[in-house]
Amino acid sequence: MIFSIYTDKIRRAIKFASKTHNQYQQQTRKGKVIPYITHPLTVGIILSLAKASEDVIVAGILHDTIEDSPKDKKTTPDMITERFGKDVTRLVLSVTEQNRDLSWEERKKDALTHIKKFSNNSLLVKSADVLANYSELVDDYNRYGDETFNRFNASKEEIIVHQLKVISAIVTRWADNPLYRDLVFLADKLRMLGSSEFMDKYPAKIIDIGDFKRDMKIKCPICDWEGTPESSDNINTDSSVALDVRCPICDKMILVAEYEIVTSDSK
Ligand SMILES: [Zn+2]
Repeated sequence: MIFSIYTDKIRRAIKFASKTHNQYQQQTRKGKVIPYITHPLTVGIILSLAKASEDVIVAGILHDTIEDSPKDKKTTPDMITERFGKDVTRLVLSVTEQNRDLSWEERKKDALTHIKKFSNNSLLVKSADVLANYSELVDDYNRYGDETFNRFNASKEEIIVHQLKVISAIVTRWADNPLYRDLVFLADKLRMLGSSEFMDKYPAKIIDIGDFKRDMKIKCPICDWEGTPESSDNINTDSSVALDVRCPICDKMILVAEYEIVTSDSK
């Protein structure tokens, strides 16, 4: 048997995506001179490194072709099925925005609802898409600062908080995702971009140490991560007056349990 890594199907996907993004419309990355095709190719590389299957890699390379093709050269689901099969079409459609007429807020809310119903393969494509897009954003931010956010239709806070929610939804859904660590590492970098502005605006819940339980339910007010102090794996007990629990995704302090004040007897 012959095992090919760089298969004919992958080469055809690269050609197809290049036509859509480059040949037909010379599309560039939003507000930049870098050709758009670098993005789907990066997604393909990430999925290859994550040892995804051929169809998942192909779907990653094609993931923006329906959404971004111009009206006169529209890529349709049927065109993808004909060339790459039904499974690839299903994956591409799962990460394609359905209702582009809705407001930014509604579209993003829709996207989060969708992730909660994703298959593992859709989660893989989505993970690679998020990693490619937001690692690029972090790199741009390190070079250009807040100016980086001027090219988007939403504010810096909206973008960062939404992406933390997306990452939280992905990792909550599938803990064995091979891109899990990369996503949590990215969340950490995104959190730091907003650390001086909005990450501190929700105060932690303060309770008595007697009410603290390792299996009590807690929820992060920023990224909506839900779990228990135990599952957050982020309990800090160094202090002698309090212990605190932080969100595993955005490191937000969610809960502070204070020890009873011990009055000295030196009266
Ligand atoms: Zn969080």
